[in-house]
Amino acid sequence: MADASILWFRRDLRLGDNPALAGALAGATHLVPLYIHSPTEDHPWSPGAASRWWLHHSLAALDRRLTGLGSRLILAQGEDSLQVLQKVIAATGARRVHWNRLHEPTSVARDRHIEQALRSSGSECFGTNGNLLFEPGEILTAQKGPYRVFSAYWRRAIAQLPPTPIIPIPSQLPPLPPELTGLDLSTLRLQPRIRWDTGLADAWTPGEEGAWRAARDFLDRRLVQYVEGRDRPDHRGTSRLSPHLHFGEISPRQLLGALLERGIDLDREPAASFLRELGWREFAHHLLAFFPQTPETPLDRRFAAFPWCHDDGTRLHAWQQGRTGIPLVDAGLRELWTTGWMHNRVRMVAASFLTKNLRLPWQLGARWFWDTLVDADLANNTLGWQWVAGCGADAAPFFRIFNPIRQGERFDPSGDYVRRWCPELARLPDTYIHRPWMAPRELLSQADLELGRDYPRPIVDLTTSRAAALAAWSAIKDAG
Ligand code: FAD
Repeated sequence: MADASILWFRRDLRLGDNPALAGALAGATHLVPLYIHSPTEDHPWSPGAASRWWLHHSLAALDRRLTGLGSRLILAQGEDSLQVLQKVIAATGARRVHWNRLHEPTSVARDRHIEQALRSSGSECFGTNGNLLFEPGEILTAQKGPYRVFSAYWRRAIAQLPPTPIIPIPSQLPPLPPELTGLDLSTLRLQPRIRWDTGLADAWTPGEEGAWRAARDFLDRRLVQYVEGRDRPDHRGTSRLSPHLHFGEISPRQLLGALLERGIDLDREPAASFLRELGWREFAHHLLAFFPQTPETPLDRRFAAFPWCHDDGTRLHAWQQGRTGIPLVDAGLRELWTTGWMHNRVRMVAASFLTKNLRLPWQLGARWFWDTLVDADLANNTLGWQWVAGCGADAAPFFRIFNPIRQGERFDPSGDYVRRWCPELARLPDTYIHRPWMAPRELLSQADLELGRDYPRPIVDLTTSRAAALAAWSAIKDAG
C-alpha cells in the first residue's frame, strides 16, 4: 500500500494555516481527511444544539473545500474515536495520524490515550498547535506556575507573540486511498429535527470562507471603531468571529497576520484592544487547562457555600425565554435564542442579572449558553460565567452588580437593540425603553403596551435583589 496519512480534523475545520494538514502532506501519496463524530465522548459537555447546527454546516463547507482540491471529507461515527481510527488505519494502511491539539481536559486525556494505543500498534501520531497563539503551559509566571490575573498573563504573552508566516492552502491534495468510503453528513443527525434554526441560517455562514468574509468585513470596515463600538449592542461593532474561531475555521495567527498585512500597528488602538480580546480567549484556555474542574466548580472556594436562591424553575425559565421584564436582559436572551449569539456586553448584563438579582447558580446560566450559543466554548464560557459571578480567576468583584437600566442607557442609548428584540416595547419613548415599569400609565397606553399582558413586569425588584445579593456575599466573603 502507498504511503497514506490520516488528517484527523476536530475543531480546526479549515485548510489555511493548518499545521496538521501541512504535516500530513509531507511525503504522503494518499491523504485521508477524517472527521469522527463521537457525540458522547465529551460527556458531560457534548456539543449543544446550536453548536451541532454550526458543525453540520462547517463540515459541509470543509467537504466542498476538500473536493475542490481533489479530495473529500471522510465522515465516521463511533463512541470511541480510537476504534474508528484503528478501523481506518486497517482499511488504508495509513502509518501516520496528524491532528491539531485541543485543550479541554477530556480531549487531552482522550488524545493521550489514543496516542499511546496507536504508537504501541506501530502508528505514528503528530499533534500540533493550530488553534491558539500560546498553548497552556507556554506562558507561566517566574515561578513556573499558572497566571491567575489576566493583565500579567497578557503582558508576558504579548511580548512573545509568535511569528506570523502563515501556512498557505495547498493547491492540490493527494488522492484518497482507493475504495475508502465515509458516512453521509445527514447520518450524523446534527441538524435539529424541529426546524428552529432559520434565524441561525440568516445570521451566519459557517465554514472557512464565511470566516474570512467576517474577518475582512471587520478588519476593513469596523476595526477602526472597535474601541467605542465593541460595547454597543445596537451597532455591529465587534468581529462576530467567535464561532469561526471556536470551530477553527480561522486561526488567531491568521488574524494576527491579516492585521500586519494591512500595516496595522498591534501596539496601538484599535488593534491593541482587539488583540486583548483574543488574549482573553488564550487566557481562558490557559485557565481551563490548569484548573480543569472550573466548568462545574467555582475557582474561589468560598462560593461553594454561597446561599443561592431556591427556584422551582419559573425564574430560570423566564430568564431563558427573555421574559424577565428587564428589557436589556430580555433582548439579549431573545437575540441568543434567535441567532445563537449574544453581544458580549449583554452577556455580562444577562449573567449578572441571573447570578445576582435572581441569585441563581451561574452553572445554570452556563448550561443554557452551552446549548444555545453557536460559539459555545468550554474555556470561554466558563471564564465568562465565573468572571461575572465573581468566583473565577481575576473575576469582577462580586459587589460590582451590573445595573441593567444604566447599562442599557449607556450602551443602547436610543433603545434600538431593545426595540429590535422586544418589539412589543418599540413604541415607548427612549426615556422609558430600559424601564417600562416606571412609565406613566398614559404613556404606556399611547405606546399600546399593557404590562403584565404584552410584556412582563420585572420578575424581581432590582434594588432589593441587589441588596440581598450583597448580604449573601457578606455571609461568605470572610470564609477561608
Ligand atoms: P470580538 O470582540 O470581536 O473579539 C474577538 C474574539 O476574541 C472573539 O471572537 C472571541 O474568540 C475572543 N473573545 C472576546 N471576548 C472574550 C472574552 N471575554 N473571553 C474569551 N474570549 C473572548 N465567548 C465564546 O467564544 N464562547 C462562549 O461560550 C462564551 N461565553 C461567554 C459567557 C459569558 C457569561 C460572557 C460574559 C462571555 C462569554 N464569551 C464567550 C466571551 C464573549 O462574549 C464572546 O467571545 C464575544 O461576544 C464574541 O463576539 P465577537 O467574536 O464579536 O468578539
